[in-house]
Formats: sequence, structure tokens, C-alpha cells
Amino acid sequence: MTSAHTDLAPVTVRVPAKVNLELLVGPLRADGYHSLSTVFQAVSLYDDITVAEADDWGCTVAGPLSHGVPTDGSNLAVRAAQVLAAHVGIDDPVHLSIRKSIPVAGGMAGGSADAAAALVACDRLWGLGLSKDELEAVGADLGSDVPFLVAGGTAVGSGRGERLAPVLARGTFHWVFALGSEGLSTPAVYAECDRLRGDAEIPEPTPSPGLMGALRTGNARELAAHLRNDLQPAALSLRPDLGDVLAAGVEYGALGGIVSGSGPTVAFLVDGIEAGIDLAIALTASGVVGDVRRALGPVHGAHVIPHPVD
Ligand code: ATP
Repeated sequence: MTSAHTDLAPVTVRVPAKVNLELLVGPLRADGYHSLSTVFQAVSLYDDITVAEADDWGCTVAGPLSHGVPTDGSNLAVRAAQVLAAHVGIDDPVHLSIRKSIPVAGGMAGGSADAAAALVACDRLWGLGLSKDELEAVGADLGSDVPFLVAGGTAVGSGRGERLAPVLARGTFHWVFALGSEGLSTPAVYAECDRLRGDAEIPEPTPSPGLMGALRTGNARELAAHLRNDLQPAALSLRPDLGDVLAAGVEYGALGGIVSGSGPTVAFLVDGIEAGIDLAIALTASGVVGDVRRALGPVHGAHVIPHPVD
């Protein structure tokens, strides 16, 4: 191991959340994962992560949505930085300051996003100059969603979701996200999905041509008609109140709604900025939803931004 650098300027990376436009859950594999076919879109809810040289590895977490995020070595961003250091043979501890605006345990891959951000930030801090492909490959060992949060945009994920292929998506889509008051555990939602399916024979999933067509034309109404999440029945089984949230969103003007990933965040597609503002106000006023965020997609993956002035 080498310690090659001293007095490096801190690096800040901004990373988006993801929504799954389509999440098709296939059979359980021998390694315990389900085979997936998913279409990810990166959306403009961001965490910011600053990495700086330090005497020891560590992190601090701040922001309105930081509750429940570990600050020890189990934090995914710290693990990502350590895995990258080991990968390139560097022995320079860093401190990570994480500012969270992505809901925690919300089905929007916030932990994976922070891991992706840590990889991009440490690559810059240590002057490694690794390609996106190399960072995505390191990220794949940390979590299935990490490569996509490095890549951003709109992409098909296969395997456990970590094998990416870009998708031609035209235009910008407008989203309203209804945040859950309490997170849902991803493993618990997959277990419930297995329980609901029982002994049913599950085919290997492939992306639906209808969804791909909607993305090519950039037609939000068509896209809304093709949103699909195989984990939604399981999330609704564990949180029946999410059914009320989905119904309220459509009643108040969304083109379509879907549970995001393993939930409990519910994603609504709307027909432009005005419609998004109207829906956010109506959902908040209805009392069915505690917290609402508006966002655009697709956006870029983890990227360096100017270091914020304190
Ligand atoms: P996914 O959509 O990938 O299934 P999620 O969005 O439902 O994930 P995360 O926000 O990634 O869930 O958090 C899942 C758990 O991971 C949290 O409850 C927390 O204990 C742990 N965790 C570790 N590091 C982080 C991090 N940097 N940010 C958020 N959670 C983290």
C-alpha cells in the first residue's frame, strides 16, 4: 500500500436518486438474488458528498433526511471509498461529509447513490483518472444499483440490475414523489414478493417493447401507461396505506403512479411543471401524504461539483 498524496483539496460530488420505470422480478437465482430486468431513470433528488483527507476513515451525515443512516464503517459510502482504495492499492483514509436529500430506505437507492458518489469523489481526490466503466465495475461489487448511479440517465439493468445498457430516451419527464413516513426494508419486500408468488413458475424477464417505445418518443402519457413494478404487490401487502397514496395521486391529476423500487416512496408521472406543482399541493393538502418532492428525469449520474462555500 502507498500513501502518495498530501494536502489535497476536498472534492464534492452530487449524485441523483433513481426510480424504476419498470422492475420485472424473475426467478430466484442460486446465489440468493432474483434475476431482474429493470429500466432505471436518474431523477433530480440529490445527495452531496464531500471527501477530504483525514487521519482515520469516517463520515458525518446531515440534511433533513439523514435519520437512520449509519456513520460507522457500515455506511455504504465509507465502504465504497475503502473498496476503491484497496482496489488501487492506496492507503489514504478519507472523511466523507454526506448531505442527504434522497429518502432513506425509500426505494430510491440512496445508499447506493452515496457509494457511487464516494467512488467518483475518491477517484478525483486521489487523481486516479479511472474510466466510468472501471468505477461501475468496482461499484457492482458494492450493490446492484451502484453502477447505474455512476452512469445516470436512463438505462436497462439486467442480471441483479448491475449489468447496464443505455436506453434512448427523448425529452424530460416530470415526477412528483410521495415520501413514506417510515422506510421499508428491501430484503423484506423481496421476501414478501416470494411469499405472494408461492410455487408459481416465473419466467426470465425482458424489457417490454411498449416502455422502450414510450421512452423513444418521449411521450409522458404513453410512458405512464407502461410503468410496472413487480415488487408493488409486495410493498402494498406490507403497507396497505400505499394504495391510498396511489389512488390520491391519480385522482389529483397524475398521468400514472408506481411504487418506487421496494418502496415506500410512490412516484407519480405528471404532464409538466405546472401539473407537478398542482399535484404536490393537492397531495400535501389531502393529508394522505406527509412529505412531497418534485423532480426531473433523466439527469446525469454522480458528478463533481464546485466545493460549496461554508
Ligand atoms: P434500494 O432502493 O437500493 O433498495 P433504499 O433506497 O430502499 O435502497 P437506502 O436509502 O439505500 O434504501 O438505505 C437502506 C439502508 O442502508 C438504510 O436503512 C441504512 O441502514 C443503510 N445505509 C448504509 N449507508 C447508507 C447511506 N449512505 N445512505 C442511506 N442508507 C445507508
